Amino acid sequence: MITTTLSWIAEKVNGKLVGTAADTEVCSVSTDTRTLEAGAVYLALKGPNFNGHDFVETAEKAGASAVIASEEIVTSLPVILVKDTKEALGALGAAVKAQVAPKTIAITGSSGKTTVKEMCAAILARRGNVLATKGNFNNDIGVPLTMLRLEPQHEYAVMELGANHLGEIAYTTDLVKPDVATIVNAAASHLEGFGSLLGVARAKSEIFKGLGSDGVAVVNIDSQFAEFWQGKLKQTKTLTFSPEQKNDADFKAQDITIGLDGCAAFQLVCPQGEIAIQLTIPGIHNVGNALVAAALTLQVGATLENVRDGLLAMKQVSGRLNVKQLTEQVRLLDDTYNANVASVNAAIDTLSSFSGIRVLVLGDMKELGEQARFYHEQVGEYAKQKGINHLYTMGVLSQSASAVFNENGGHFSDIESLLTAMENDLLVQQRDISILVKGSRSSKMERVVEAIEAST
Ligand code: ATP
Ligand code: MG
Repeated sequence: MITTTLSWIAEKVNGKLVGTAADTEVCSVSTDTRTLEAGAVYLALKGPNFNGHDFVETAEKAGASAVIASEEIVTSLPVILVKDTKEALGALGAAVKAQVAPKTIAITGSSGKTTVKEMCAAILARRGNVLATKGNFNNDIGVPLTMLRLEPQHEYAVMELGANHLGEIAYTTDLVKPDVATIVNAAASHLEGFGSLLGVARAKSEIFKGLGSDGVAVVNIDSQFAEFWQGKLKQTKTLTFSPEQKNDADFKAQDITIGLDGCAAFQLVCPQGEIAIQLTIPGIHNVGNALVAAALTLQVGATLENVRDGLLAMKQVSGRLNVKQLTEQVRLLDDTYNANVASVNAAIDTLSSFSGIRVLVLGDMKELGEQARFYHEQVGEYAKQKGINHLYTMGVLSQSASAVFNENGGHFSDIESLLTAMENDLLVQQRDISILVKGSRSSKMERVVEAIEAST
């Protein structure tokens, strides 16, 4: 964080400083006593299952220099008393960001947020110091905590904004005030929180509210919600990208090829010119992610060469469509990190680009609400359309995918019987076999990956 004083913090969070330590220097704020560094200000958050105000004594013992609280507490430390500590956290994050003033990118979407964020960070690292969201710190607590990590040397901030409920992105984007913002896509995920797909698209569209009058929006022109979003952007400069090569757009990919490692190469065509791009992370969907990352970063000062070099320098993330050659004949695509309809379809697209026998092992996609069965059926249908040869499903909902696919494979209630069936079906094959394993986080499909690896 930037070095500041307790009185500066009190002013920014609209709080009342109790105690006589106004000039005390502060260079970090912490909401967690387990990781609090000596000298940090402890901010006591309240959640449904905990109350940070109960840990003030622990924070003091850990070396906290002051406390931001909304309840009466007994402590010898200086206290900044506020109405709501979560709002104080947001206000402080926004104040730190305003002070450091990095060029800022904000990214939301149903899938690909973290990937696009990592791409942007890799590209901008060719130009200067970048602060990016760590992991998935993308909610109304994680976003301000990320902004608190800003330091004077940061020239760029790349922020991932996620949403579990309506209004969450409106809140975080208002704190972040991005220079450029995008919705990578809107698909069936977290439907339980939003009611419908349109609900998801609407919640995501809140991100554009944070753009100032010079702000730029980057819109997925292939999305069924492109017009809906553009309708909300009449006063805002807008750039488009076409991840599926369906429409003419400002940012498009030509001459796409896919390597044996599943990584795509293509010609990026955009208003700044053209350049050949080689990706190092597998999956055809990453062509679209690269297009949006290019649009975002070129907007804050990157060059086409920075885009090319940054993308080439990217490292693969575990559990995200990792392609492993298990034997001469068998290739495993491990995409067990998570799943929703869009990401399963994207993975199927990549699987279908391999020659030989294509096998999909699918666990349940969670959080799809009342229409969960329908969405699983859609995936079964898509697999069939795309020439997948075997579909093995495990869990409960994914049975609907198997039912529609209705060819080789089947539905299984446990790993052992699924593996036995796969072995029986596939051992007799004399051709190359590509096996994609995917499912929601809670489906724990990595167990299947481990079992396949152990048995080959
Ligand atoms: P989370 O909601 O967990 O934060 P995220 O939006 O950050 O997810 P990533 O972590 O980048 O998304 O990717 C998650 C999954 O989505 C991966 O399995 C990946 O294969 C798939 N995916 C990534 N980008 C896209 C895309 N543009 N379209 C469809 N699927 C994608
Ligand atoms: Mg993420």
